Amino acid sequence: MLPVDLPDAVREALLAPLVDHHCHGVRRDELSRAQFELLITEGSTPAPPGTTHFDTPVGAAIRRWCAPVLDLEPHAPPAVYLARRAELGAGEVNRRLLEAAGIVAFLVDTGLESPELLSAAEMGRHGGAAADEIVRLEQIEQDVAETAQIAVDYMDSLAEELAARAARAVGLKSIVAYRCGLDFDPARPSRGSVIAAANRRLSDPKQRLTDPILLRHLLWTAVDVARERGLPLQFHTGYGDPDLDLDRADPALMTGFIRSLQPIGVPVILLHCYPYHRQAAYLAAVFPHVYVDVGLALTYTAAGSARVMAELLELVPFHKQMFSSDCYGVAETCHLGALYFRHGLARTLRARLDDGEWNPTDCARIAHMIGSGNARRVYRL
Ligand SMILES: [Zn+2]
Repeated sequence: MLPVDLPDAVREALLAPLVDHHCHGVRRDELSRAQFELLITEGSTPAPPGTTHFDTPVGAAIRRWCAPVLDLEPHAPPAVYLARRAELGAGEVNRRLLEAAGIVAFLVDTGLESPELLSAAEMGRHGGAAADEIVRLEQIEQDVAETAQIAVDYMDSLAEELAARAARAVGLKSIVAYRCGLDFDPARPSRGSVIAAANRRLSDPKQRLTDPILLRHLLWTAVDVARERGLPLQFHTGYGDPDLDLDRADPALMTGFIRSLQPIGVPVILLHCYPYHRQAAYLAAVFPHVYVDVGLALTYTAAGSARVMAELLELVPFHKQMFSSDCYGVAETCHLGALYFRHGLARTLRARLDDGEWNPTDCARIAHMIGSGNARRVYRL
């Protein structure tokens, strides 16, 4: 199960159930090969003619590590893998792969909700785990924009709706990296500027929100709610789909905003971060309220993921790193996220033991903190 020999206590700590503090639902329906291939890439297009998304680090990882969960030999060819998947059916495949991930609680970002995706509660049931909700800010703003009549309604409804949704959630999440980049003005916008921007917004509310003034207003409204309820605020940073300008998703770009939240005490959780995970580790090291994970970067770098984990651990305080699978669409991404997290951490811990830098007690404690303890503390699970 682990790629290296470790003292029993360290091994047990690594194999203990994980808190997956950021994930999405997986599909409940049967998938064609074309649909499956689109769900194992962050790109949104099929592989070029004559090629396949299975010829990627994550594609090879599915054949290596997910095939045995479906009773196939490791490295089963894609066609054999997908035939077995269809034979077992989506329900059974989801149960097997989510259970194999060894997760005790899923914190599900419900911002992408659609009838084909398992809900947070269903993710929990399929994976034999607890489940809680993370509320996506931009989704709530969209709902409010489509129903508000005037700017003042918009502002009031946004605050009310955020507070109501937050009451049932364990955290809030922003995708401002996608909407205007992380180099936004960190200051709270003036009421006058928000009213003027809201009036423009309400004239065409079906559009996705990209106005930096309203995005900042949304963030600061969320900060008020998060402070009131003691909730952390997650941010997409780094690696994502092609809607993103990657260079504007470097978490170091939001240093000003992070600094302004420090006295307020709202925890800021930097998701994914890759390839800016070293910047993220630095931010977590110097700001008391900043936490990081490398989420789907481990799934998508797959056989190379141990290096990403090792780079994050060069600097990140052990009480600041968390585990997430960031699974979405297919349960393979959950299983692989957990597997490469455990493998990568195991290799780093083995190296520290070999160098005599950390002792087995330290290693076990660190594995517990990163695997579940930090998330339990910050999300108050
Ligand atoms: Zn995500």
